[in-house]
Amino acid sequence: MSTRRQFLAATAATATLPLIPATGRAGSHEMAKPAALPQALRFPVGDMAITVLSDGAIPIGANALQGVDQAGYDELMQENFRDPATFRAAVNGFLIESGDAKMLVDAGGGGAMGDALGRLQGNLTATGTKPEDISMLLVTHLHPDHVGGAVADGAAVFPNAELVVHEADRAFWSGDAPEGSENFFQLAQGVLGAYGDRLKVINGEDDVASGIAAMPLPGHTPGHTGYTISSGDQSVLIWADIVHVAPVQFARPDVTIGFDVDPEQAAATRARILDRVVADKMMIAGSHIDFPGMGHVIKHQDGYRLVNAAYPYPA
Ligand SMILES: [Zn+2]
Repeated sequence: MSTRRQFLAATAATATLPLIPATGRAGSHEMAKPAALPQALRFPVGDMAITVLSDGAIPIGANALQGVDQAGYDELMQENFRDPATFRAAVNGFLIESGDAKMLVDAGGGGAMGDALGRLQGNLTATGTKPEDISMLLVTHLHPDHVGGAVADGAAVFPNAELVVHEADRAFWSGDAPEGSENFFQLAQGVLGAYGDRLKVINGEDDVASGIAAMPLPGHTPGHTGYTISSGDQSVLIWADIVHVAPVQFARPDVTIGFDVDPEQAAATRARILDRVVADKMMIAGSHIDFPGMGHVIKHQDGYRLVNAAYPYPA
C-alpha cells in the first residue's frame, strides 16, 4: 500500500477531529489563554531542565485507531481506570533550559485545533519565559497539534527561534496534499514559510545543541523525531508521538492511529523504541501521555507499562 493511500485512509478515519485552517480563524492571537492554574512542571536533568507545558487534551476514540475494536478499547480503558466515553489524550510541549539558552520542543496546537488546545503559550508565560526568549524550536513533526502554536496569523510566534526540523518531514509536508488533508499541509507549509530564513534541517542522529541529540523515529510521519536531553549522568528521551493513547498502546503497541503516515513503520518504530527504553532504563517524555507525561517503561504481561516519574519537589 502506498504511503499516500495510507495517508488518505488515515485522514478519512480521523476526520472527526476538528482542524481549523491556520488562516481561517480570527482569534489565533488569543492562543495565550492560561489555564486557571499554570500547568507547567520542571524536571532537572543534570545541569539542564525540562519543563513540561500542557497544551490541553483532545479526545481520541476507538474509531481513530487501527488494530483494536470498540470492545477492546473499552476494556483497556477500564483496566486503566479511564472512562472510554470521555478519554482525552494529553498534548504536551517541552521547555528545555541549558545554561542561559531556552529551547522549546513543539509549540502545541495554537489556534489550529479549536479550544481544546492552545494553552501552551500561556503556560510558558507562567514560567517567566517570553516567546522572544526562545532561541530554538525543535519540531518533532509538522502535525498541527505540535506546530499550530508556532504561528499566529501567518507570522512566527517565536521571533528569535531557529526552527529545527527533520529533512524527511520538511520534504513530505512541502509536497502536494492528498485530497482531504489540505489543512495539514497548508499549516505545515505556513510554519516552514514563517521560519523560512531560520530553518535548521536535520537528517539523522544529529546533535542539535549541546546536550540535545535528535533521534529519528519515522513512521508516524516520515521525519518524526525524538530528542534526547543529556546532562551529567541523567538523560530523558522526548519521544513525541510514539504513544498517542497510553491506556491502549502500552498494552498493545501494535495498535496504530489514523494519523500515521505509514502505520506499519510507525508500529515497528514503536516496538523498537519500547524495547530500547526498557533495556536502557531510559526516562521518556511523551507528547500525548497524561501531563506531565514523564516516566520509565517496564515490561508488563504481553506489553508494557509506564511508571510515572517522581514528582519534582523543590530541593
Ligand atoms: Zn501528536
